[in-house]
Amino acid sequence: MSAARHVSRLPEAAADRASFTPHVFWLCGLSGAGKSTLAARLATALRARAIPVLELDGDRLRGGLCAGLGFSDADRSENLRRAAETAKLGVSSQLCVVASFITPLENQRQLIARTIDRDCLSFVFLDAPLDVCRARDVKGLYARAKTGAVPHMTGLTSAFEPPRNADLTIETSRETIDRCSERLVAFALTRLRPPR
Ligand code: ADP
Repeated sequence: MSAARHVSRLPEAAADRASFTPHVFWLCGLSGAGKSTLAARLATALRARAIPVLELDGDRLRGGLCAGLGFSDADRSENLRRAAETAKLGVSSQLCVVASFITPLENQRQLIARTIDRDCLSFVFLDAPLDVCRARDVKGLYARAKTGAVPHMTGLTSAFEPPRNADLTIETSRETIDRCSERLVAFALTRLRPPR
């Protein structure tokens, strides 16, 4: 069989994989903004196209690589530095990385942008008002913070600086999960395709 014939018989998913460029999608936003929900949707959509994905998030890293770090600004920065270095390894291993971290401060986002080649990095800001995130309170953190059980709660006792230069902003309180997910996946696919 000729090479051309072989390529033309590749299933669509494999053809997508052949043409994708490794990239880091860095989802940031308050706790409850929708990072985990939309990261999972994005990872599923990419894998359906046979694109290999590395998922990174705060809970997973804090369970191992970043165990021992707390939530002071300094510890959060170190957590994010390790996450960014891990994402960079993912890109150099030809993976698409979906990273979900609150990433509250501008200087932390700048550190990430200095670590990962900017051409391979997109910041996605999941923008939801604090009141909406508090009402969702998926992990019960806001309720616990009210009793003082969670020090350094982002948005309450620890700062969150909304990103000014995100590559994509999705207002998760204004659109359904399906619509937000469609927008994220569509954006990701444009970033993953090499320029023709
Ligand atoms: P985070 O990872 O940012 O802390 P989660 O994804 O764990 O947030 O929780 C977000 C919650 O908000 C989920 O319960 C999800 O079902 C809900 N939600 C409602 N609307 C949306 C939306 N448009 N996008 C994402 N999540 C949404």
